[in-house]
Amino acid sequence: MIRLGPFPNPKIAYDPYLGASLRQLRDYLRRPKQERAQRRAQIDESFYFWEPVQSAVQERCFEKCVFCERSSRDVETLIETFRPLRDAGNGNGDSEQDHYVWLAYEPENLILVCIECSSRKRTEFPVIGPRAPYLTPMSEISGREKPLIVDPYRGNPERHFLFLADGRCEGVTKEGRFTSWLLGLNESRLLGARAGEMDTFLGHLRASIETDGRGVAAYLDPRTPFAGARIGVARRLFGPVAV
Ligand SMILES: [Zn+2]
Repeated sequence: MIRLGPFPNPKIAYDPYLGASLRQLRDYLRRPKQERAQRRAQIDESFYFWEPVQSAVQERCFEKCVFCERSSRDVETLIETFRPLRDAGNGNGDSEQDHYVWLAYEPENLILVCIECSSRKRTEFPVIGPRAPYLTPMSEISGREKPLIVDPYRGNPERHFLFLADGRCEGVTKEGRFTSWLLGLNESRLLGARAGEMDTFLGHLRASIETDGRGVAAYLDPRTPFAGARIGVARRLFGPVAV
């Protein structure tokens, strides 16, 4: 995972069709809970395939799955919602039927995911502490609840995961461990690919230290201020490299 930052809303020109879908959803949301329990909201799925939405989300997510970071050129990806639209799972078999249907057309809730991550995530969405109340607006929701799945837009993956040179992605917080487990971020399909990428990356770095040495070597000169910190990090990264 990589931090994407807040999502700038796509420029969606007013569309009568979307207007009708929004009105229909608002009508549903106003119905009493008992009535809602008997009838599911009609969500216009074509919204997620609409060109302005597709291109904005693709671009914002760098055309990669927000969780496993595989490119949409290499694996099948789709646009779905970060917070599920119904039956948000509490992580213990229970779920909240109405969460989070009111966010169905909120661009800030849209993410690009690969089909494997999507099928592992399903509608699971446990939170630490209380869940945000029904109808909490998008602008307030991240301040009202703490999801166990790391939020690619508002969360900070670097705080939750430790990426190791052998390709492993270790969760170092409750959120990191849950996200990694739920999405299978250390499954062999991802581990092998990530390890290969790390090998290439470290190979380039190692070559620049060993051959194109001058600039980099100056940083590792033990006589320079803070050389201990730099050498320590370099040793951790490259192991046997003589520094
Ligand atoms: Zn994925």
